[in-house]
Formats: sequence, C-alpha cells, structure tokens
Amino acid sequence: MAVNLQDLPYPKDALEPYISSKTLEFHHGKHHNTYVVNVNNLINGSKYEKMDLEEIIKSSAQDTQSVPVFNNAAQCWNHSFYWQCIKPGGGAIPSGPIRVKIEQAFGSFEKFASEFKQAGVTQFGSGWAWLILDQDKLKIIKTANADTPLAHSKKALLTVDVWEHAYYLDYQNRRADYLDIYIEKLINWDFVNSQLV
Ligand code: MN
Repeated sequence: MAVNLQDLPYPKDALEPYISSKTLEFHHGKHHNTYVVNVNNLINGSKYEKMDLEEIIKSSAQDTQSVPVFNNAAQCWNHSFYWQCIKPGGGAIPSGPIRVKIEQAFGSFEKFASEFKQAGVTQFGSGWAWLILDQDKLKIIKTANADTPLAHSKKALLTVDVWEHAYYLDYQNRRADYLDIYIEKLINWDFVNSQLV
C-alpha cells in the first residue's frame, strides 16, 4: 500500500505572515515529500508493503532492524497530522469540549499554553511537542526526531513541529517566538475537537 503525499489543506500562502509560503514550499514540498519517497522505497518488497501507514509505524517501532522505515513512516504521519493542526485564522482560546478538558487538566488555558510552549522550547534538537489523550487524561509530551505518540499507543490531539526546518526561514533561531505565534494565531481547535470523538 503506497504512502501518499496529500495536498496541504490550505494554499501555501494562507498562513502568512506567520508561516511563509517559502517555508511551506520547502517543508511540505521537499521535507515531507522526501519522507514519502523514502518510505515507499524502503517498504517496497518488504513485509511492510501491504500495510497501511499506521500499521507500518506500529510494526516497525517494535523492530530494531527497521529504524529507517519507522523514521520515515512516522515523519509522514506526523507531518500529515501537523498540517491539520493549523489553519488560517486559527489560534486563540478554544471552544467546545477541548476547552473544558484543558481547563480540567491544566487549570486554565493560559497554563496549558505555557506548558505546551515549554515542551516545544525544551525539546533538545529536533522533534515534536504534543497534546495527547492518555487513558482519557490530557497530557503534554515531547518526542525526539520522528518519534510519535502512535508508536506508544497514545492518541494525539495536537502537535507542533519543532525541527528547525519548520521555522528557521521565518524565525531563524527564535523557536520560542514561533511557538507563541503557533498558539496565538495558528492552532486549528476545530481539528483538535474532532480528534476527541
Ligand atoms: Mn517537519
């Protein structure tokens, strides 16, 4: 089962000025696309060939001989998820069931935002910060490189890519500024709510 590169859910310039079309051109058209090409080459003729992407990730995560398959497959999934977590006109305080759950778990939206930003800032090197559902409890975690909650039987609700390629053209070394803007202007809370059900 080939892995595909889906189109972005918005035009490349739709997130400007917060994420430039140049960033999306490279991030989606080059980085994400390379993971798609790589995983298809790696699974070709292997035991993974007939699996769908989530099965490839869960299975290769258990196999130390399949680290390249895992890394490229997980990056395909993480990026497809990330594109859906943001939208033009997003950000600000969420409504709906996620707001209630966030206030229950973190005390307030502000506390959640501060913890989520902190997870992104403190992920050393490349990786991701996540809001996940762990046995019905909301938690913030961070993962290194391609690692993904899916490989640990956790349900992802929201992510932010903190690999330098996600922000360097627009923010250079200012990862904290990218995370502030991500939270204030970009998060697609409708998508996050849709992941709760
Ligand atoms: Mn990325």
